[in-house]
Amino acid sequence: MIGIEHVSKTFGRFPAINDVSLDIAEGELVALLGPSGSGKTTLLRIIAGLEHADQGRIVLDGVDATNMGARERHVGFVFQHYGLFRHMTVLANVSFGLDIRPRRSRPSRADRTKRARELLDLVQIGNLGDRYPSQLSGGQRQRVALARALAIEPRILLLDEPFGALDAKVRKELRRWLRELHDTLKITGVFVTHDQEEALEVADRVVVMNQGAIEQVGTPTEVYDAPGTPFVFEFMGHVNSLPCTVHNREITVGGIRFAAPEYQEVEDDFAVAFVRPHALEVVAPGTDGSLAATVLHELVLGPTVRLDIRVEKLGVLEAEISRIVHDELRIKRGSRIGIIPRHMQTFLSGGNAGPSVRMEERRDAPPPTPPQMPKGRTGRPLSEIMRRLSGRRD
Ligand code: ADP
Ligand code: MG
Repeated sequence: MIGIEHVSKTFGRFPAINDVSLDIAEGELVALLGPSGSGKTTLLRIIAGLEHADQGRIVLDGVDATNMGARERHVGFVFQHYGLFRHMTVLANVSFGLDIRPRRSRPSRADRTKRARELLDLVQIGNLGDRYPSQLSGGQRQRVALARALAIEPRILLLDEPFGALDAKVRKELRRWLRELHDTLKITGVFVTHDQEEALEVADRVVVMNQGAIEQVGTPTEVYDAPGTPFVFEFMGHVNSLPCTVHNREITVGGIRFAAPEYQEVEDDFAVAFVRPHALEVVAPGTDGSLAATVLHELVLGPTVRLDIRVEKLGVLEAEISRIVHDELRIKRGSRIGIIPRHMQTFLSGGNAGPSVRMEERRDAPPPTPPQMPKGRTGRPLSEIMRRLSGRRD
């Protein structure tokens, strides 16, 4: 268990970490996610004992570790740039943490070698023990770095952008593998990334950081589906922001009204509604309750199509639809279409998160009935499959 209690750290006069508190449970894998400079590395180094906080405490397994050094804290650390010893074989790199133990607690040479070999098997490079780091690929080196960090049987594993220096394909492989490894070892872990997809895929919980403070903490689904602030919304992936007004428990966006019973106490405020590209449904022009739009540009990306569209009074928006809907509506540049925001999250002018509004709650028109379609091979109505493909989460 890691307890971070009101930790602050300034460099000179610059506040790198500003009153951060967070509890990390035993066996949990947490991602610190945020843009460059948001304080992720500094916080990780404070947990490790490589940096000391100006204020606040670090508690490890119930014991105040604030004044303990890095060794005493018993953490394994993996950096972005491997940090392997170039003049040592892979096997020697992995057993290093055991080799330098004081004689009293040092296992025998045979046991250290055995342990290092087991770890190399665990990280799936059991055949590379006799090589030198220069004879390995980036992905293999990072596996060695991880095996080395695990050799001391740390109670916490800390990883700072461990896949940052690798190419996209290897990154994807390794992050899936890290997740599986974590499920096997169940070691408490914190890993830093600026890549939201990586955080969502690997972590049990995501901690979004912004300017030295925690912006939001939640499961990947919570953080992605219900961002608590405009910053998190924009950081978690492309999003359209639509100006809107709130009046009489209704939100009006581009002339369409949505019921918002949660806005009990708000009258005549301006707000911003955030809509993800896949939550903008594209329909035939003139469809009841849709906003009129024109296609400016289309980009076919395999099974999905990304559209830039111009909507009157709202400007240029991005929509993402399935290839099926795209072909069905015969969309091309210049097409007139209709759009219906299916899921929006609003924030009032003061920045407070308002309700998230779904299409079903619309007051002025019943939801359009889907046209009759032939059944798909699975027996599920084709319209439902289309809806799923177009990303409607209803
Ligand atoms: P991140 O890992 O999220 O990119 P860092 O924790 O490395 O962010 O840095 C947070 C802020 O603190 C940055 O603005 C960085 O320039 C500053 N900073 C980090 N380490 C030092 C240092 N040793 N001396 C001065 N400023 C630092
Ligand atoms: Mg960093």
